[in-house]
Amino acid sequence: MGSLITALASYCDIKQRGGRWILRIDDIDPLRTDHRAIANITRTLHAHGLISDAVPRQQSSFVTRYERALQQLLGLSFYCRCSRNELKDIKLYPGYCRAIKEKSSNCAVRIRVDNRRRSFADALKGDHDYVPSDEFGDFVIWRKDDLVTYHLATACDDAMDYSHILRGDDLFEMTAPQLFIMEKLGLSPPEYAHIPILTYADGTKLSKQSRAPALDTATPEVNIRHALEFLGQNPPTNLMSVNEWIDWAVRQWRLEAVPPQLKPYIASDLA
Ligand SMILES: [Zn+2]
Repeated sequence: MGSLITALASYCDIKQRGGRWILRIDDIDPLRTDHRAIANITRTLHAHGLISDAVPRQQSSFVTRYERALQQLLGLSFYCRCSRNELKDIKLYPGYCRAIKEKSSNCAVRIRVDNRRRSFADALKGDHDYVPSDEFGDFVIWRKDDLVTYHLATACDDAMDYSHILRGDDLFEMTAPQLFIMEKLGLSPPEYAHIPILTYADGTKLSKQSRAPALDTATPEVNIRHALEFLGQNPPTNLMSVNEWIDWAVRQWRLEAVPPQLKPYIASDLA
């Protein structure tokens, strides 16, 4: 239900603007990529009328793009040999390896940040000010195991392929470092909106780890109505087909009606 809420919100928002909704599979880590799960996500979205307007983009097929970006950023970066153990309990990277310009085996690439205050706008949360050196410090853009990081891949793809990013609030703090990368690559950033995520009554996020119940794909109409309720869109109670629901949702969509906090997920409320 949590994933459906975010997917539906981004679909309605971009469709109402006359845009295209394009699914992206973030599969940069081959060891963590589960092809059955990916097929399942696509199937579930389809069942709920959420169909990508282009062939879904897989990050794993854009590695050349990320390698090129890394080359562009090397002048602003350094090789970090610190072990996970050396950095545990440290919130902001203290710059131990800032002087290392020689690549060696088993090192990550970190980008050097500065202390200039910046700001970005979020369509739902308003303006956010940040100072890179205070908020996130020098961060890893290329991993020790020679894979691109989530930040670098996402910054490249979001800036190059998308005009609007609507995603869950749990990714809000990722925005500033990703904007920092876009700035250093000379890319124009997309527009952002972060919507609250679905939680249980105790405030924990619904996720696979918390054993969130799978959506019942036999009742997509009911799921869509519940998702719209969570999103504050005031859905009607009459019976509609999936396509009628999606048409209604796109027509009536109001981003400003999304509450600052979603009501908690209680399974019996959705019965
Ligand atoms: Zn280091």
